[in-house]
Amino acid sequence: YESKKRRDAVSFFSEFDKTHLFSLAQIEYEIKHALDKDELFLVYQPQVNEHKKVVGVEALIRWQNDNLGFVPPDKLIAVAEANGYMEKIGSFVIEEALKTIHEVRRLTNCDFSLSINVSVKQLQNKDFLEHFVQLTESYGELDALNLILEVTENVFIDNVGSIKRLLVKLREKGVRIALDDFGTGYSSLSLLAELPLDELKLDKAFIDPVTDDPKALAMITSILSIAKALELQTVAEGVEAKEQHDLLCGIGCDSIQGYYHSRPVGKQELIEFISSHC
Ligand code: C2E
Ligand code: MG
Ligand code: MG
Ligand code: MG
Repeated sequence: YESKKRRDAVSFFSEFDKTHLFSLAQIEYEIKHALDKDELFLVYQPQVNEHKKVVGVEALIRWQNDNLGFVPPDKLIAVAEANGYMEKIGSFVIEEALKTIHEVRRLTNCDFSLSINVSVKQLQNKDFLEHFVQLTESYGELDALNLILEVTENVFIDNVGSIKRLLVKLREKGVRIALDDFGTGYSSLSLLAELPLDELKLDKAFIDPVTDDPKALAMITSILSIAKALELQTVAEGVEAKEQHDLLCGIGCDSIQGYYHSRPVGKQELIEFISSHC
């Protein structure tokens, strides 16, 4: 019961605790035990198409620690990557997301994709593919599981060749690949044609100005058109306002992920949302 209460408090924490400052040393100390102490859990954010149907769900990690409170995921991931914990945490995310979504699909009788973020530290392990297949095995054939792995561009900074080969193998097995956070940093257009991709996720920072700035709108319209030509599905991230939603659907964005539809939520709330959007 305690852990259910904690999970229901997720949106509360994410609202208020982002302003806290943590010492890196404290996080490094606490992260060692986070898995064993059952402090990590997942929340799920729906991706919804223009007909208000859930087409996908993204799993997002949360960490609630007694001493640190709520630690923002980007901070958790950065520390885990730097300290050698990312593979363990990554495996936990894959297992937990598969288990929960298997149940949610069964209970809602709704079909939608499951998106899981993966870190470069996971993909660099030569046994990732084998390990991933093992983790998914008990849920059926990989190509029937409707899975999407989300990677960011930093994954391709080193070892472009070996990461590309891994992604190709994953796609051959029926896993789709999304390029996350597109439009931030040094996003390169040439990457879109070069990489084995199925989906493009437009970052919130790229989406934010769409209703106010004609240049931003022109950029997004053009990117959507390129994505379509390359047969990539498109997801807009961080959509909070109805005006953004309507505009993006109007210019052909395939699905919308953001507070406008739903914040990331726990299993129970996800089931309720999907039941009314299937
Ligand atoms: P991301 O994969 O780009 O996830 C989208 C982020 O945008 C999430 O932040 C989500 O809560 C937030 N978001 C979605 N809609 C809105 C909105 O309308 N408004 C605002 N303000 N924010 C919105 P979150 O959960 O804090 O995660 C941050 C990042 O941490 C993720 O960005 C991802 O890069 C990383 N991350 C989260 N979970 C995992 C994980 O299991 N594994 C790995 N490797 N990385 C993860
Ligand atoms: Mg993501
Ligand atoms: Mg993103
Ligand atoms: Mg992000």
